[in-house]
Amino acid sequence: MTKIVVIDPGHGGKDPGACANGLKEKDVVLKISKFAKDYLEDGYEGVKVYLTRSTDVFVELSERARFANKKKADLFVSNHINAGGGTGFESYVYTSINVGSKTETMRGAVHDAVMTVFKGFRDRGRKSANLAVVRETAMPATLLEHLFIDTKKDADFLKSDANLKAIAKAEAKGIAKALGLKAKSKPSKPSNDKDKSFYKVQTGAFANKENAEKLAAELKKKGYKTYIVKE
Ligand SMILES: [Zn+2]
Repeated sequence: MTKIVVIDPGHGGKDPGACANGLKEKDVVLKISKFAKDYLEDGYEGVKVYLTRSTDVFVELSERARFANKKKADLFVSNHINAGGGTGFESYVYTSINVGSKTETMRGAVHDAVMTVFKGFRDRGRKSANLAVVRETAMPATLLEHLFIDTKKDADFLKSDANLKAIAKAEAKGIAKALGLKAKSKPSKPSNDKDKSFYKVQTGAFANKENAEKLAAELKKKGYKTYIVKE
């Protein structure tokens, strides 16, 4: 059965989120979310991804959760950028989530996958908080804080689309692991007939043309490509 994922780009429209170093949180998380949707749907089988917004529009927090509940999502992932003068990556689940629960296991898979991209940054840990989107969603839900927009080193990393793609690809990989998705097999390279050699097998030589035709007919019946050559 197709797994449903809702990816939630935080903020949008009149709410830019945190802004610093020439970046707006709403723009950075929209890029990460769109890339992650593409990586998931192009790279894995049996998955459908919905975004709570795919343009620069304002969406209420409760509306984001309602949307995921209506879609009957299997997993909800919210993308944010941190602020307040720290550095590194951290993830959140709702406060009542226990160690060993399905939500915690899924969050762990996503957290570990994304952290591989932030090798030069601090792993601030797996946290829990009473955040609306993880509280009001009916399915396993996690909120990710990808670095600090107001710390220059972090912001510089987020200015590169190649880095945002790397974050999204890792997020997709983590989501795939959390949901047990199968990677799509790569399309096989079409064979190039021009480079092919053919080896022919001769099955008999007859002085009598009729006998030759008899054998040829028999071989044809068996599915062999057959022709008679006069020498
Ligand atoms: Zn935010």
